[in-house]
Amino acid sequence: MNSLATSSTSPVILTGDRPTGPLHLGHFVGSLRNRVAYQSTYQQFIMLADAQALTDNMDDTGKVHRNVVEVALDYLAVGIDPLQSTIFIQSQIPELAELTFYYLNLVTVARLERNPTVKEEIRLRGFERDIPAGFLTYPASQAADITAFKAILVPVGEDQIPMIEQTNEIVRRFNRVAGREILIEAKALVPEIGRLPGIDGKAKMSKSLGNTINLGASADEIRAAVKKVYTDPLHLRIEDPGHLEGNVAFLYLDAFDPDQAGLATLKEHYVRGGLADSIVKVRLEACLQELLAPIRLRRQQLESDRGYILQLLKQGTEKARAVAAQTTAEVKSALGLNYF
Ligand code: ATP
Ligand code: MG
Repeated sequence: MNSLATSSTSPVILTGDRPTGPLHLGHFVGSLRNRVAYQSTYQQFIMLADAQALTDNMDDTGKVHRNVVEVALDYLAVGIDPLQSTIFIQSQIPELAELTFYYLNLVTVARLERNPTVKEEIRLRGFERDIPAGFLTYPASQAADITAFKAILVPVGEDQIPMIEQTNEIVRRFNRVAGREILIEAKALVPEIGRLPGIDGKAKMSKSLGNTINLGASADEIRAAVKKVYTDPLHLRIEDPGHLEGNVAFLYLDAFDPDQAGLATLKEHYVRGGLADSIVKVRLEACLQELLAPIRLRRQQLESDRGYILQLLKQGTEKARAVAAQTTAEVKSALGLNYF
């Protein structure tokens, strides 16, 4: 099936998600839109990061297992085309673990502890010194994932930029050790809109914060979520001037409203005063219902054939493994780990 995928001479994109729950609008804004847009011009590999998900989910391995197929369904529903993109499962490619093992020698514990993304995630999870070693070192594993495919572009949300920087540090150190350019530096492909906040007004829509609107949400769930969307706490009476900063309803409209000119007029009215939050939310709900209805429908059509999804993942994983094995052989040989 993947034999029809984009020619192997095209530059490579590597992206992925942790299968710890259903994908949400944050994923959509942060990376899915870019993945769909770029899949026809790049050779795209999309990784289900089940092994990485275990770094903070050892107490619930079943959740990770179940969500592999669920996230794959989300990809297909959103428009990832299996003829153009290769979807694979991280844990089924032992070469990725092997590369990680070597890269861990190219990064210090102090540097890992300074990584802003890791720092923030440690804070969110309340780990402090009880952090699993695998969690602290997951930037090295992410470097393995990216470099194994010699990806030049990584479509991610802005919170992942430090990860790409750390990957590139490992690449430079490795190439210095090797004495030649074996690994390639990658660039983060970050959307203009940046980070999508949660419906509760927190800086990031995130599974672990429970403030998401999922891509598979039902019409009723969308309606209920929009009702809860954080707006302007100072906008008490309709005639009061409203504020746009931190106003999640407007931030979502920025991200999803196809009529940006109409939105600009609405914003002016809101700031001037005299526009109820409920009117803004009617518009937001309409946008989200329209965006998510076809995704939900496509998901429902695919859901009944899990065998097909697993087959697709098996083929994708075989194809991805061949690429990762090639890079791993080059890496080991550059390190002198070639004897026979
Ligand atoms: P978890 O709580 O398990 O960490 P999450 O909801 O934070 O899950 P991730 O799997 O960590 O999602 O993120 C996967 C990708 O989606 C990353 O590229 C990340 O930057 C992007 N992403 C996730 N949430 C958002 C968001 N709210 N805005 C923009 N991008 C996002
Ligand atoms: Mg996260």
